[in-house]
Amino acid sequence: MIKYSTKDFDRDFPTDDACLDWLKNNRWTNGVFCVKCGKVTNHYRIQGRPCYSCEFCGNHIYPMAGTIFEDTKFDHLKLWFKAVAYMAVTRCGISSRQLSRDLGVTVKTGYRMWKQIRGILADGNEIKFVGKVEVDETYIGGKHQGKRGRGSENKTVVMGIVERKGRARAIVIPDVKANTLLPKIEANVVKDATVYTDDLPSYNKLESMGFNHETVPHSQKIYVTAGDIHTNSVEGFWSQLKRSINGTYHHVTPEHLQEYADEYSFRYSHRKDEQPMFTTMLNQVVEHSSKT
Ligand SMILES: [Zn+2]
Repeated sequence: MIKYSTKDFDRDFPTDDACLDWLKNNRWTNGVFCVKCGKVTNHYRIQGRPCYSCEFCGNHIYPMAGTIFEDTKFDHLKLWFKAVAYMAVTRCGISSRQLSRDLGVTVKTGYRMWKQIRGILADGNEIKFVGKVEVDETYIGGKHQGKRGRGSENKTVVMGIVERKGRARAIVIPDVKANTLLPKIEANVVKDATVYTDDLPSYNKLESMGFNHETVPHSQKIYVTAGDIHTNSVEGFWSQLKRSINGTYHHVTPEHLQEYADEYSFRYSHRKDEQPMFTTMLNQVVEHSSKT
């Protein structure tokens, strides 16, 4: 992961104005189309206001509108950028309380920022996985994390779909029945992919559904390193996810587990980006905005 230091941040975003410029330039990468002039025109900053004005007709555009910063006062914009930077800096995320402390804001304010920023990390779920895809389920919560069977009633079942050397997705599911698992695979994986699972009978129909299906005997999970038939990627994803939950929160309630899983999957999927996670997350702010 490419690092992004406090020094980098202070250089790139010294003021609220610099943050607003960044938003404008990245939301309208090909220039701003003025609706009144009917063409792309230069837009100049109106001093003291969070907007830019068309050089010909004076029509205003507000880069914060339609983004997660929409309801924020302009003189808090740099603080929000800083919040994104703090959330991006660790590999497994920080709690809202930690964010409040880092920013020096109230717990309530910190929580609002944290929730908004995290909310945009669930996006991008519509692009299906390709190639070699490992699928597995695990149990999260309680003292005997990960174990099937006795005592698993109070735990939350999570399904993991991991592209080898690629992206990951974790989905909270009610049970591990075929009727639960198979539609999720269908929704998230392309048909000509090869799907690697353990020998849970719920996966038996994958071949007849049109997937190439390879099965790893459950007893051999993670230990098999020779050959192609293994689920090491998804096993690795689970252990990192669980370590991250334990390290950040100690405990995540089932209601919040999907949000956490989305955030973690986002980080995992972008772990090899050739830019800092902060840049990836800022781009996600843009990605998530409605262009008005
Ligand atoms: Zn105009």
